[in-house]
Amino acid sequence: MQYRCNGCHTSYSFDKGRYKCDCGGLLQIEYPKKPLDFASLATCPERSLWRYAKALPPISWDIIQKITMGEGGTPLIRLEKHLWGKADYFMPTLSFKDRGAVVLVAAMSKLGVKHCIIDSSGNAGTAIAAYSARANISCEVFVPIETNAQKIAQIEAYQATIHRIEGGREATAQAALDRVELTHAFYASHVYNPLFWEGTKTYLYEIFEQCEGNLPQVLVVPVGNGTLLMGLTIALEELKSWGFITKFPLVVAVQAANCDPLAKAFSRGLPEGPPINNKPTVADGIAITHPLRETQILEALRFLRGTFITVTEEQILFAQRALALRGVFVEKTSAVNYAGYLNMLEQRKELKDVDTVIPLCGSGLKSF
Ligand SMILES: *Cc1c(COP(=O)(O)O)cnc(C)c1O
Ligand SMILES: [Zn+2]
Repeated sequence: MQYRCNGCHTSYSFDKGRYKCDCGGLLQIEYPKKPLDFASLATCPERSLWRYAKALPPISWDIIQKITMGEGGTPLIRLEKHLWGKADYFMPTLSFKDRGAVVLVAAMSKLGVKHCIIDSSGNAGTAIAAYSARANISCEVFVPIETNAQKIAQIEAYQATIHRIEGGREATAQAALDRVELTHAFYASHVYNPLFWEGTKTYLYEIFEQCEGNLPQVLVVPVGNGTLLMGLTIALEELKSWGFITKFPLVVAVQAANCDPLAKAFSRGLPEGPPINNKPTVADGIAITHPLRETQILEALRFLRGTFITVTEEQILFAQRALALRGVFVEKTSAVNYAGYLNMLEQRKELKDVDTVIPLCGSGLKSF
């Protein structure tokens, strides 16, 4: 397993100290992976996302067994005649971030990491804190001062050290980076570290299996830092190169209208997000003004021939209530996906009769 720079293509061994290239570029991860054999997976007794271990970073079963909490294998819940929700709020820390966190922390464990640092608007920090606790790795989590009490209480329960930072999400990331430089702790960032995507890609493998090898025609996905979108993109490319699909489903990326740098860049054909005058949004988990991986995210969505859609604050709150009336209580950041679906139908009525999956990616207990 090795890192390679996205910019200058220098490769580096996978080790504790590195989170970016010497040139400043962001890293990707390379390792030998074998095509999945979905026919024989049907009888695989492993229910967690580790049933796909063949196509995941090489980590021993010994380590996996110590660290796994059975993450993955989440149900598809029928919401409307042609709409299903993939219920990732069933995850051990109640959001899809466990997919990425378990892979990253397992790899940290393999490296013998003792101490790590992460910054997040909440759920990624929570997931890394939980798995680190399990792996006996001490963890510092940097969050914006506005982060709500429930998310903080959950991080504290895992005995992570919390740093509440003023000045927004960017200032929080900077404070974490300063601390990484000072302490040389492992930077367990879901944005810098490409191993996180290797976990989030299992979201799509599961849908592929659950739909018996027929992906739905439309996949809706929220975009803040793009970890779910990038995982999904990797998985779609893999399924295509392994010969399981011949074309991509329509990928509809959703941002809050109050903070939509990537939706703007996409519609204007720009390689990165323009400076935006963002307003506060109830969707705190996707309120990212300058996503670090923006160029990659935009490239990925253009490569997939996907599209962006934005949703207003009223639409997000309406969607949260509408889902709750079906018994499904998700956090506002997650209600964004249903709001995006409804907006998509307004614009393209023909998609009403087309099978669609939206992620129900964070529990409602995380935001009120
Ligand atoms: C993190 C998160 C998102 C956004 O994911 P990105 O990887 O930042 O694009 C959306 N919904 C929930 C519930 C999240 O925890
Ligand atoms: Zn480089």
